[in-house]
Amino acid sequence: MHTDSKSILVVGGAGYIGSHMVLSLKRAGYHPVVLDNLSKGHRDAVIDAELIVGDMADARLLDEIFSRYQFLAVMHFASFIEVGESVKFPARYYQNNVAATLNLLDIMIKNGVKHFIFSSTAAVYGEPKSAAITETHSLAPINPYGRSKWMVEEMIKDFAVSDGLNYAILRYFNAAGADPEGRLCERHEPESHLIPIVLQAAAGKRQGVTIYGDRYPTADGTCVRDYIHIVDLCHAHLLALRALTEGKKSMIYNLGTGHGYSVLQVVDVARRVTGKDIKAAMGEPRAGDSAVLVADAALAKQELNWVPSYPDLETIIRHAWQAMFKHS
Ligand code: UDP
Repeated sequence: MHTDSKSILVVGGAGYIGSHMVLSLKRAGYHPVVLDNLSKGHRDAVIDAELIVGDMADARLLDEIFSRYQFLAVMHFASFIEVGESVKFPARYYQNNVAATLNLLDIMIKNGVKHFIFSSTAAVYGEPKSAAITETHSLAPINPYGRSKWMVEEMIKDFAVSDGLNYAILRYFNAAGADPEGRLCERHEPESHLIPIVLQAAAGKRQGVTIYGDRYPTADGTCVRDYIHIVDLCHAHLLALRALTEGKKSMIYNLGTGHGYSVLQVVDVARRVTGKDIKAAMGEPRAGDSAVLVADAALAKQELNWVPSYPDLETIIRHAWQAMFKHS
């Protein structure tokens, strides 16, 4: 049994956010251990940490991992994240995001691990009732992805009551960008996220980008999102981890910048940053999309002393662009 007091289990640590989190944890002196089934993640994205290839639904494997390590905390980044796919194949989302997470929670609690950091999402709010969303906004997800995350949030709160689980639920808006040193980048296969798609178009790897609808009630008719730099997102997790392990009570925070950009604005900024002509064609709306999702992240800033280092979209896109070249 490893009794190192700084071991952190990072489930989904070979994925986009999880792999950046591993870098942040290492830099802060923690010892991340990655569990990832590599269904979406990449083996080479796990830099300088142990990778256990397996699934969080596998109770026998989890028993074995928890008997080997005494983890200080578990961080969970292993959810499926595509709104459109979740509408077409909801069972995948309820199986992986809910049922497998229940298995993880059950086994970590049995093993006496009390601190849990969960990647949640702005999608739990559904259609916003205000310009910037605070954590007290009603929870009314409008697609199976959002509902799967909401269900896990509710389970976590129940385990806090029954078993003293100490949690940080972090509701991300749109994670974007890449490690400024270019060690990692965003790689989903097939790619469905706006910024990597736009940059692939700039790099000539695809014809252009299809904009999913221009009849939303926004200034230019396209959807507005709050893009947050992956490094800032991970830094907030680190602060949440420290707070939890230093005795702060459970927490729920939005993580975003508070600034919204429309799809057309993202394409324009990417044209400027890359100096390339990116072709954009108007297409049909994507099922399950909210018109506007912008965070009020004041609470995380205030309570965690979180100060985002890269709040502007230009830097986010520049880092993503640089990293894409290093990894192509
Ligand atoms: N989007 C788009 N074309 C694409 C991919 C995404 O117009 O090829 C839009 C999408 O409808 C949403 C925004 O870009 O309004 C961000 O989508 P993404 O999938 O990156 O993140 P999500 O908001 O779904 O988490």
